[in-house]
This record gives sequence, C-alpha cells and structure tokens, in this order.
Amino acid sequence: MKMKVCPNCGSKNIYAIDGGVLGDKYRCEDCGYEGMLVVEIEKEEYDAWLKELKKEK
Ligand SMILES: [Zn+2]
Repeated sequence: MKMKVCPNCGSKNIYAIDGGVLGDKYRCEDCGYEGMLVVEIEKEEYDAWLKELKKEK
C-alpha cells in the first residue's frame, strides 16, 4: 500500500487542506511545507527513502 509523505522532510504527518480545481493541496505538520506535490511511496521502501533524504541534507 502506498502512503503519502512530505517531499521536504519526509514526515508522514501530512494531510490535505483543500481540494481546489487543480487538485488537493497538502500541508506537513512537521516542517510547515504546503503544496500539491507529495511523495507517494510503498511502505516497504519508506525507510530506505528517508535515509537517502536525510543524507542529502
Ligand atoms: Zn515536512
């Protein structure tokens, strides 16, 4: 099953704030990111993906 995570910090605390004509907009509770772009990833791949994300910073 895929899950939505923040493209900025990798948090799972992300939720849709409105569904405009262009689609849903999301907000991340952890870093305050707001935008239409979210990362959809398989649960099994999440840990590895998060590790890569942290390495970039
Ligand atoms: Zn975030």
